[in-house]
Amino acid sequence: MSSIPTAVDLENESIFPPFHNLPSEYLRKAPKLKSHWCFLAEIHEIVPYLRPMYTVKDKTGAEHLVVFYLDNGTRIPTALEKSRKTYTMCIMDAVKHQFMDGQVGIRVEDEKSVKILPCTLQQLFNIRDNIVNLQGVCNVCCGPSSLKCSKCKISYCGKTCQLNDWNGWHKVECKVAQQLSEWGAFDWDS
Ligand SMILES: [Zn+2]
Ligand SMILES: [Zn+2]
Repeated sequence: MSSIPTAVDLENESIFPPFHNLPSEYLRKAPKLKSHWCFLAEIHEIVPYLRPMYTVKDKTGAEHLVVFYLDNGTRIPTALEKSRKTYTMCIMDAVKHQFMDGQVGIRVEDEKSVKILPCTLQQLFNIRDNIVNLQGVCNVCCGPSSLKCSKCKISYCGKTCQLNDWNGWHKVECKVAQQLSEWGAFDWDS
């Protein structure tokens, strides 16, 4: 396996577009985007309603509605069970949908297209920058690295720093870092 996590560029708007650059559901594709893309937004509100419904904020701060229309009706989908306010929602190949009441948002029909990361949007960007800046040095003390987290491949100088980190922030960071390397290895062009 690769020695360092592949750090996908979250600033690349052809992969991670803000809401206003998403294609409409009639086009399904936009010239500014790759063949696949992922909409990233922070959960602002979880609306108790007939269907699982969220308001989310993308990186521009604009607020949008995400509504889940799933075969299982009103059950909270597995992908969303861990969702909380301020967590980051990731929706693959999201398209703009006009709801019956005229509002424009995102209608999700396949829960597999959605992932929740247990951090804010800003923290997601920070974790990515951290991975890039700390390549090859300990994630805690910046000393020379001698081992890596077996899950996310982030580096440590030794067991002490690794354990301290796991008891602190790394539990979250590890999940996010794994998602970043999954995106890094993903073929967005196919
Ligand atoms: Zn260290
Ligand atoms: Zn890890």
